[in-house]
Amino acid sequence: MVFKKILQKLKEIKETKLEKKSDQDYSNRFLKFYYGHKKRLLKERKSLYHEKKQKGICVRCSRKVVEGLVFCEYHQQKQAGYNKQARMKQ
Ligand SMILES: [Zn+2]
Repeated sequence: MVFKKILQKLKEIKETKLEKKSDQDYSNRFLKFYYGHKKRLLKERKSLYHEKKQKGICVRCSRKVVEGLVFCEYHQQKQAGYNKQARMKQ
């Protein structure tokens, strides 16, 4: 069956693509950097988040947060929009 052969071919292509990724052969150097320094980058981002949170600074910019939140007024509204969109997709 021809259809079955096509499916098989697609599967093979998918698999070779997956292999490439685990081979650390990233298509762009930014991704390569990201994966190479992932642990450190995530750690830095996390500690910055906590630092800002403690100081009462918005985690997205450097404005003062709305009380009880980690965002300033502007980013709180933006975040509300993202959440609404995410819910609508479901
Ligand atoms: Zn902000």
